[in-house]
Amino acid sequence: MFSTAFLDLPALQGAAGTVMLPGSKSISNRVLLLSALCQGTTVVHDLLDSDDTRVMLAALKQLGCGVQADGTTVTITGLGGHAWPAEAIEFFMGNAGTAMRPLTAALAVQGGDFTLKGVPRMHERPIGDLVDALRELGGAIDYLGNDGFPPLRIRQPALQLDKPIPVRGDVSSQFLTALLMALPLAAGHQAITIEVVGELISKPYIEITLNLLARYGIAIERQGWERFVIPAGSRYRSPGSIHVEADASSASYFIALGAIAKGAGIRIQGVGADSIQGDIRFMDAAEQMGAKITSGPNWLEIQRGAWPLKGITLDCNHIPDAAMTLAVMALYANGPTTLTNIASWRVKETDRIVAMAAECRKLGATVEEGPDWITVHPLPQRQFPNALAKGQWQRASIHTYDDHRVAMCFSLAAFNADHIPVRIEDPKCVAKTFPDYFEALFSVAHTAAKHIPVICIDGPTASGKGTLASRVAAQLGYHYLDSGALYRVTAFAALQAGLTLEAADEAAIATLARALPVRFEGEQVLLNDVDVTDAIRSEQGGMNASKVSVLPAVRDALVQLQHSFQRLPGLLADGRDMGTVIFPDAPLKVFLTASAAQRAERRHKQLISKGISTTLDSLRADLEARDARDSSRSVAPLKAAQDALQLDNSSLSIEASVAQVLAWWQSQRD
Ligand code: C5P
Repeated sequence: MFSTAFLDLPALQGAAGTVMLPGSKSISNRVLLLSALCQGTTVVHDLLDSDDTRVMLAALKQLGCGVQADGTTVTITGLGGHAWPAEAIEFFMGNAGTAMRPLTAALAVQGGDFTLKGVPRMHERPIGDLVDALRELGGAIDYLGNDGFPPLRIRQPALQLDKPIPVRGDVSSQFLTALLMALPLAAGHQAITIEVVGELISKPYIEITLNLLARYGIAIERQGWERFVIPAGSRYRSPGSIHVEADASSASYFIALGAIAKGAGIRIQGVGADSIQGDIRFMDAAEQMGAKITSGPNWLEIQRGAWPLKGITLDCNHIPDAAMTLAVMALYANGPTTLTNIASWRVKETDRIVAMAAECRKLGATVEEGPDWITVHPLPQRQFPNALAKGQWQRASIHTYDDHRVAMCFSLAAFNADHIPVRIEDPKCVAKTFPDYFEALFSVAHTAAKHIPVICIDGPTASGKGTLASRVAAQLGYHYLDSGALYRVTAFAALQAGLTLEAADEAAIATLARALPVRFEGEQVLLNDVDVTDAIRSEQGGMNASKVSVLPAVRDALVQLQHSFQRLPGLLADGRDMGTVIFPDAPLKVFLTASAAQRAERRHKQLISKGISTTLDSLRADLEARDARDSSRSVAPLKAAQDALQLDNSSLSIEASVAQVLAWWQSQRD
C-alpha cells in the first residue's frame, strides 16, 4: 500500500496482463455465516482477508464450527445437525458491521447465552431496527449499554413466527439481510414472512443475499421489494465448494483500463459477467463507450475497441459507485458524456458530483453539473500514432476527499495524450476496499523508460546517501536501488565461488554478476535466498566491493540488472555512476558531500550501535583512503555528474536533507 502524502503517476502509455482482484467484503461474510449454518463441509475459495472476515471467523470458531484456513481458501464445517453450545459465550466483534448484524440475528433465532461486544465505535453504530424486528418474532435481546446500540445480551427466544415480521428497509439493507439469512434456522413447520417497512434501499445488496441463499438451498419467495417469504421446511444445504467473487466495483477500474489503454488487453480474474453484484453492469456501459469485453466463469477480458471512446448519455441509478469511473472514461471520448440519476453521489464519502467535476476541470475538461447529473466533455486524444495532441491536458494534483473511488478513478487520467504525469493526493485512501490498488495498476500498466522518473544520489562513502535515498524513496513511494549493495554482493559471491577479486578473474566474476541471484526485501539482501545483509555491510564488504567495481567487465555485467530497477512509479538510485553511466538522463542528480570528520563520526556511531568496537581516527583514515582510491581510479571514479546538484550535509539533519531533495524535485516538476 502507498501511505505517502501523494503519489505521482508517470504518464502511462499502455497496459496488458492479468489482475487478481480482492474478494468482495459483502459476499465473504455472508458465505462464511451460511457455511456455518449448514450441515457438512464447505470449501470457500478466494475469501477476502480483512478485519471483518477475521472477526466473523473467530466468532464461528467460538460457536464450535470447524475452521481450517489455507491462504485465501477456508474450509468450514457447519453447525447444522450439531448441538449449539450451551455455555455462555462472549463475542468480540471489533468494528465489523458485516459480522455483527447477521450474527446477532442468527444467535437470536437459535438462542443460547451470548454477549456481543465491540470497539467503542461499534457501540455507537445503531442496531435498534434489527433488535426490534428480532424482538417482534420472540427474540430475547437486552441492551447492555445504551438502548439501540451494542453491546447486546441474547438468551433463549420464544419464537412467534405466525404473523409477518416487520423490518425497516430505509435505514440499512443489512438488517433485512441479517433476517433473511437467520430465519431459515426456524422455518421448520411453517413459512415465515418478512415485511419491509419504508422504501427498501440498496436493493442490489439484497439481490446478493437472495442469490447466495439460493446457493445454500434456501429459495426465498420475493413479492416485489415489500414481502419476503421463507418457505416451510427450508434447510441450509452446503454447496460443497463456493468461490467468493471479486468486488465488481473494483473491477470497474480495470475494465476502464482495458478500454483506454493500448496493449494486448486486460484479464480480470475473480469476477465474470454472470456476477451476482449489481455493479457488474458497469461492463455494459463500458461496452457502449467502446470497450471490447469477453467473459467466462469468474473472468473478464477487456480490450480497447472504439478509439476515441464514444460519449454516451446513461441513467446510472443501478451502478452508482462504478459510474464514477465513466466520468473519467468520458475524458477520452469523442463527445460529451452525461450521467443521470446520480443524486446518491451527493451523500457518499464526499459530494461525489462536486468532487468529480472539480477534479476533471483541474485536468482541463469542461464539466457541467446539476442536482443529480453531470456532463463531462472530452479532452483531445491522439487518434493516429503521429498526430499531435493539442496540449489541452493540464498538470493536476488530484484531491481525493478521503474517497477511495475518487483516487482510483483519476489514476486513469495518467493515460492522457499529452503524456503529463498525474498526482494523486493521499493515495492510501484506497485501503477502504482495495489496499493494493496502485500495485495492481503498476503490475499491468507500462510506459516508455523516459517517462519513469529516476532520482540519482551519489557521494563518498558514509556521506549518508543510502539513508537519504531510501528516505526520499519512501516519501515518494518510489523503488530504491542500492547499487553499492550489488557490488558488495558480487564480491561476496565471487569469494564464495573461490575466485579472487583481481583482474585475473574478471571474466569469471562478470559471468557471475550477469546472472546474480540477488533479491532485495525491505532492508534485507538475499543471495540465493540466503540473507547476506550483515556479511556484505561490513567494512571488509565495502573494501571488497571497491575492488570488484574497478573491473570494467563487472561494471558492464551489472548494467542490465540496474536498469531493471527503473519501474513504475519511479526510482531512487544510489551510487557511483548512477547519474553518469546508468541513468544519464535522470531528471534530478544529487551529489552528497560531508567532511571526512563528520562522516567518520557517523560511521563510528553506526558501528558502536552494532556492538563493533573501533576508533574514530582509524575510521577517518580508512574513509580518506577509500575516497582517495575511489576518486583517483580510472574506472568509474568518484565524481559528481556535471549536472548534479551539490548538497553538503555536514551540518544538516537527515530530515533537512530529505526536505532539500524533495524541494529540488518539486521545483523540477513545476
Ligand atoms: O555505497 P557502498 O559503500 O555500498 O559501495 C561500496 C563500494 O562499491 C564503493 O566504495 C565503490 O567503490 C563501489 N561502487 C561503485 N559503483 C557504484 C556503487 C558502488 O563502484 N554504483
